[in-house]
Amino acid sequence: MSWFPARAVVDLAAVRSNVESLAAHAPTAQVMAVVKADAYGHGLVPSARAALAGGATWLGTAQIAEAIALRAAGITAPRVLTWLHAPGAPFEDALAADVDVSVSAAWSLEAVVAAARATGRTARVHLKVDTGLGRNGLQPDELARLLPAVLRAQAEGAIEVVGLWSHLAFADEPAHPTVLAQADVFAAALATVEAAGVRLEVRHLANSAATLTAPQVHYDLVRPGIAVYGLSPVPQVGGPDEFGLVPAMTLEASLATVKRVPAGHGVSYAHQYVTTRDTVLGDVPLGYADGLPRHASGGPGHPGGPVRVGGRTLRVAGRVCMDQFMLDLGPDATERAGDRVELFGTGADGGPTAQDWADAAGTIAYEIVTRLGASVPREHV
Ligand code: PLP
Repeated sequence: MSWFPARAVVDLAAVRSNVESLAAHAPTAQVMAVVKADAYGHGLVPSARAALAGGATWLGTAQIAEAIALRAAGITAPRVLTWLHAPGAPFEDALAADVDVSVSAAWSLEAVVAAARATGRTARVHLKVDTGLGRNGLQPDELARLLPAVLRAQAEGAIEVVGLWSHLAFADEPAHPTVLAQADVFAAALATVEAAGVRLEVRHLANSAATLTAPQVHYDLVRPGIAVYGLSPVPQVGGPDEFGLVPAMTLEASLATVKRVPAGHGVSYAHQYVTTRDTVLGDVPLGYADGLPRHASGGPGHPGGPVRVGGRTLRVAGRVCMDQFMLDLGPDATERAGDRVELFGTGADGGPTAQDWADAAGTIAYEIVTRLGASVPREHV
């Protein structure tokens, strides 16, 4: 029997409506909901189903295993693309599961062709070009050099090139000149591929930020991730509300203990926080082993992560420990052990959000939700 004093409640209606909003921002494109990393911590299969209900026609994962898990769960209808492979990747399994694969290096073309020959299937391939991110993908000249081998594999029936795609370096800074510069490199790569006689089904470049702020790069398909889960990819430009998004995950816990301590009492490791008056401390049973950032510890000059308890917002008092952290509930606290504490949620009524935790920890909201550990049960509603 497993029991845990905290849970992440995932609102699938929010996931669905976020995809509807994203589709409205990109009316000429299809939507690929990016569900890698266990749907950014929200639960792979339920989130994928909710995204499909919201109008997504593609799903995207980094690892082949995630794509196969979608198929194994009975998700048959839409296309699934998987893109981050290293030598030894199970391409045969991907083809058997009718999963599209990205080719981002000469070795992966060879491996995909070998898998197609071994299985007697035709691999649906998306060629990944590095238009400037400096990460995974064929350099444009490498793409041109690989094209003869691509065409031979296509003529043989081992592969069908269905997509050309890339990823942006500065989409979260919408005015950054590299966005359009990368689009130019992408256009040149498209011209090269099309001049070679390849008939593409989809061209895709836009993540959440570009889906919401750069219609010039929507092409045929947009690939939002973080916005599917209702978090803003451009918090400095606008919060979820501004883009019609609703944060899908609420993280809550039960207070483990509540106790009164005198003024001058050190709190948690190294006494980074010291009480300034007779007060009540509450112990929240979640810590860095569960994925909370230790950088969201609170002390002088460093406000900790925010928490909503009893209608007020408090901050982590002292160090976040491996599996717990403390709150200074104040001298007049009426809370008792077992009372609910909300770490983050929709932000309605000024409640704390995953973005607030990211700000407190000096990171991005992506890290807050994706690093939430398997110890924390996900409850889908
Ligand atoms: N496309 C690719 C290749 C990615 O790696 C990611 C995530 O990092 C996305 C799309 C979705 O990005 P975002 O979550 O910023 O929308």
